[in-house]
Amino acid sequence: MKNYKVALLAGDGIGPEVMKEAVKVLKLVEERNADVAFELNDVLFGAAAYFETGKAFPEATKQACDEADAILKGTIGLSHEESKKIPVDEQPERGALLPLRRRYNTYANFRPVYLPKGVAHFSPLKAEVIGEGLDIMIIRELVGGLYFGEKETGVDENGKRFVREVLEYDEDQIRQIITVAFEVSQKRKKVLHNIHKSNVLKSSVLWNEIVEEVAKDFPDVEVKNILVDAAATYLCLNPAQFDVMVMENMFGDILSDQGGGILGSLGLMPSACKGPEKSYYEPSHGSAPDIAGKGIANPYSMIGSVALMLEMSFGMEQEAKNLWNAMQSVFAAGYSTPDLSKDGEAELITTAKFGDLVCEA
Ligand code: ATP
Ligand code: MG
Repeated sequence: MKNYKVALLAGDGIGPEVMKEAVKVLKLVEERNADVAFELNDVLFGAAAYFETGKAFPEATKQACDEADAILKGTIGLSHEESKKIPVDEQPERGALLPLRRRYNTYANFRPVYLPKGVAHFSPLKAEVIGEGLDIMIIRELVGGLYFGEKETGVDENGKRFVREVLEYDEDQIRQIITVAFEVSQKRKKVLHNIHKSNVLKSSVLWNEIVEEVAKDFPDVEVKNILVDAAATYLCLNPAQFDVMVMENMFGDILSDQGGGILGSLGLMPSACKGPEKSYYEPSHGSAPDIAGKGIANPYSMIGSVALMLEMSFGMEQEAKNLWNAMQSVFAAGYSTPDLSKDGEAELITTAKFGDLVCEA
């Protein structure tokens, strides 16, 4: 009997709504596998945690995460207006999300941009651009760079406000994420797009040096270096050329949201955040305050994150595959949440209905 402890961090906005569907699916997986049990531990995180306990990442949540075999996170964050009620250091991103990433050194963020042929009609791109469908793996460095660097705001001697933010990486940090990207590439199409901005940023110059060094250990993988701005263009014009793309933290944040755009919705972007000892899984999108509480959020990113957890943390590859197939079959049967449907093409369903149909499938 395998007993897996999973900490559930539902969070804010649509987080609790999509988490409910993830739990539905997990319970079904448990039911179907007599030798597997999931011990689910629901804990507070983000703004919800702040309002309840005064801390965005409370001690009890830290402990539950420490004890868990894997962490499943919903979404965090409030609308711009609502977030003014929370002090800067307890803001959900600063007070919860970045500390979670730091605590488990989850340096490798996997963001699949996956659009199989059967759901290609949701993409805003033309059919001839998508070709046989898209299957891109964006690998984003997640615990370094500008987001984690020193920050300072102040007023200079001329009375002008200024801001300073530091972008910092050391070679070990770069080497570990680049190595992951080569390993993944080796198991896929053996073409690695290295995304950089070395014509302007020194950090990219060092990054590219390390790519060249690591490449020597993976002679069967072809490296293609491409500037981040050009990559943004090609993601729209010719995304099918990409297989694995590797990049630093902020580039990855931006290009992976663009990945959601070319699929048709951020609701189609699951992700895995892998550390040396512990990994957590989350939708790539935020808490979508504009649709929170309406029961219409697309739970695909959340259920896809469950699939990634089953595969990457628990070695349940077949169950993960079943989940992907089940979700595609719901779309193929003509259903979708409102974020996806164009011109009334699909029958619109709720978050809960999507989860039910996935379980049925
Ligand atoms: P963050 O900074 O946390 O990444 P964001 O600014 O990128 O957040 P999101 O909250 O991720 O913003 O989403 C932007 C918009 O995309 C939302 O307002 C919502 O309309 C849509 N959206 C995101 N996720 C979903 C989803 N799962 N289902 C439906 N629509 C979604
Ligand atoms: Mg975003």
